[in-house]
Amino acid sequence: MEESLLDASEAYAISLDEKAELTKFRDEFYLQKDHYYMDGNSLGLLSKRAEETLLNSLEDWKRFGIDGWLGGKQPWFSLSEKMAGMLAPLVGAKEEEVMATGSITVNIHQLIATFYKPEGKRKKILADELTFPSDIYALQSQLRLKNLDPVEDLIRVKSRDGRTLNEEDIIAAMTDEVAIIFLPSVLYRSGQLLDMELLTHKAQKRGIIIGFDLAHSIGLMPHELHDWGVDFAVWCNYKYLNGGPGSVGGLFVHEKQLGILPEPGLAGWFGSKKEKQFDMEHVLTPAATAGAFQIGTPHILSLAPILGSLEIFQEAGIENIRRKSLSLTRYMMELIDFELRDLGFSITNPMDDRFRGGHVSLEHLEAARICKALKENKVTPDFRAPNVIRLAPIALYTSYHDIWKTVQILKTIMIEEQYKKFSNEREVVA
Ligand SMILES: *Cc1c(COP(=O)(O)O)cnc(C)c1O
Repeated sequence: MEESLLDASEAYAISLDEKAELTKFRDEFYLQKDHYYMDGNSLGLLSKRAEETLLNSLEDWKRFGIDGWLGGKQPWFSLSEKMAGMLAPLVGAKEEEVMATGSITVNIHQLIATFYKPEGKRKKILADELTFPSDIYALQSQLRLKNLDPVEDLIRVKSRDGRTLNEEDIIAAMTDEVAIIFLPSVLYRSGQLLDMELLTHKAQKRGIIIGFDLAHSIGLMPHELHDWGVDFAVWCNYKYLNGGPGSVGGLFVHEKQLGILPEPGLAGWFGSKKEKQFDMEHVLTPAATAGAFQIGTPHILSLAPILGSLEIFQEAGIENIRRKSLSLTRYMMELIDFELRDLGFSITNPMDDRFRGGHVSLEHLEAARICKALKENKVTPDFRAPNVIRLAPIALYTSYHDIWKTVQILKTIMIEEQYKKFSNEREVVA
């Protein structure tokens, strides 16, 4: 949004929706009436098209049994490859550099097992202290598997303010002891967007392999992984990409790496060259593409909804999605600033569009119980311990008016102190 917010009225929110882009896609999603879903960065909502492609796969199973692998509406044997072709533009990759497979954590294991080759002094893994725990657990166990020290040999770049990272600090940590770097594109808590192009350039000048976790940027903004020269990346398809709970994830391996790899770190028969797979030989002939990093039989029922969902992204255009998302979060921050002043909140995500992901990160001492009060009032936020409320308006299905309502509800909760009837502890799934 170019103009700064002068008008906090409901009418203004409605007028923003009237001239907004991408509004036609809202009807494609299953939204609950009078419910404000601000958690699409944790689990995107179901679209009618995703439902349809899931039902297609069930129908293929029903009608064709095992022949669904090559027949039916969505042949299972090539479904991952088909999906890869649709995911590639979202990460700025060639089709052969992408595969829909695994999950974030599994794909980290796969690609670290493949690319991490500690040798002599150059044996450390470089990560950061703010990243998602699962990523760290995976790196630690990869170190243990190589008989290295999960504490000593894992460098976690420190944050200066406890919320964001400074690229200069990351670059300063790229010493000749580092074999591989693994970082998030967008930090899950503060929503900070790192400069992947710069970091890749600096890593490569120092001969260090670099990979990214795109969990909080895929489906939110464009990427240019191929042109930036990123070695590898992983992501899930259930956050901004709306592929459904536990849907199959994705990975990217740069073409320059595909040519020289002997074998995937974790091999399995679905990594075979497709024509060779059913020769059933005991020597793997890996695919020449990122398909080589598949392990076992694809989870078809967790892949199928992604197919329908990705059609929506093709039609909407990822640049348009990013532009709208920035406008939605900008509007939300301005309203919060205006309406929730002096109520103990601070917005702690970066303000600048160039450094911001897709959610607003609101800190408050009573965050856990404010989230419970929001849920009781039909707003779905997301809580991250100890004190962060994440609110993610989604370009494809959140309206400006939804944001307006959310902020009004939050204001009422605070003024009436409704949160006080809940305990200030997180729930099992926060
Ligand atoms: C969501 C998320 C995960 C979850 O990993 P899964 O293997 O899909 O369960 C991991 N890392 C980051 C950064 C995430 O945001």
